[in-house]
Amino acid sequence: MTNFLNCVPSKASCFAWRLMLDRIPTKVNLAKRNLLLSSDSGCVWSNQGLDTSCHIFFECSFAYQVWMLCLEWCGLFAAHQNNFISHFEHFLGLLSCVAKNQYKWAMIWLASIWSIWLSRNEVVFTNKFTSPKHLVELIKLRSWKWLKVKDRNFYYPFSCWSGELAACLNLY
Ligand SMILES: [Zn+2]
Repeated sequence: MTNFLNCVPSKASCFAWRLMLDRIPTKVNLAKRNLLLSSDSGCVWSNQGLDTSCHIFFECSFAYQVWMLCLEWCGLFAAHQNNFISHFEHFLGLLSCVAKNQYKWAMIWLASIWSIWLSRNEVVFTNKFTSPKHLVELIKLRSWKWLKVKDRNFYYPFSCWSGELAACLNLY
């Protein structure tokens, strides 16, 4: 995954790096440092599970819906993996893009991780809830904007990226 980190804005790549090391300020990590009561460490979306890296991104029913909608956008259906590295590797392996397009696919994964985290923070800090469906629209928009910045030859309009992803990834 580290090969792809320079494809996305530094705040998002920094975040992915810290997530890989479980160094993000989840409630459980804050409680470990006595910055929060451990009794206040529940997941912000589901009433089950704790606010841990693994739960927020891979185990929570909210995250699960986001990933499934993301795969649906990509025209795929696949089993869900529950940890950072296997989730990323599995996701990357779902599409056999030509090598030069693989970073676009990795970028969608990184945009998903980053968007899920921003959405979780909105609940924590402003009590604003976003639906999984709306979040996937934000993931589409964010990944498209990142691509426009990264790749001058990426000329697809957003409507195409959103509606015909396979064509934009040169899958046919
Ligand atoms: Zn949850």
